[in-house]
Amino acid sequence: MTSGVGHGRGKSLVVGTINWSRIFSMTSEMFICLIVWTSGLHPWLQMFVPRKVNVFLWRFRLDSLPVRWLISAKGIDIHSIVCPVCNNEVETRDHLFFGCTLALDLWRRLRMWLNCAMPNFSSWDTFIVWIEGVHLSNIQKKRVIAYMVTLLWAMWRYRNGVVFNDVFCNRNSLFDLIRLLCFRWIKNRGHLVSNWNSWLAIPL
Ligand SMILES: [Zn+2]
Repeated sequence: MTSGVGHGRGKSLVVGTINWSRIFSMTSEMFICLIVWTSGLHPWLQMFVPRKVNVFLWRFRLDSLPVRWLISAKGIDIHSIVCPVCNNEVETRDHLFFGCTLALDLWRRLRMWLNCAMPNFSSWDTFIVWIEGVHLSNIQKKRVIAYMVTLLWAMWRYRNGVVFNDVFCNRNSLFDLIRLLCFRWIKNRGHLVSNWNSWLAIPL
């Protein structure tokens, strides 16, 4: 019977017969599997983007991101339910990510860059229907989804910058940042062999 406590870098934390490090690791993996499963995507998405983005996508799919409409609907006093980005519509999830002026502009830029017949999406579900039926190879579909999820993630970060720090950034710079994140995340996970310039020219 194993007993005692192990400490320090690279050592497992063992108390009695229980290896807590192993349990924490297994729990984390199970959590990520749950996120991917409930996101409606294939398990390989977690290989393309960081875990924090998978978690974001999970909350996005459940419509649990704290947009102003949702905060108000929970009975919490809030000074405004108007979208902080465009100041023109109620801030719901689907408005912020698909109907807002910023979203429409970023989706247009993504369509032009990918050079594929991507329609205007009104929701995540309309995107899923499109990606399942579109004539692209599996690797191309994986990349499109990774780019789209990165776009959503960047929009949420941008929105939070506006709300909490009153920071508005140039849309050209924002789209450049989205492409840079896509490149780094996919390449760092060993799913991209081309260099920055060739990938930029042929992202699919
Ligand atoms: Zn808006």
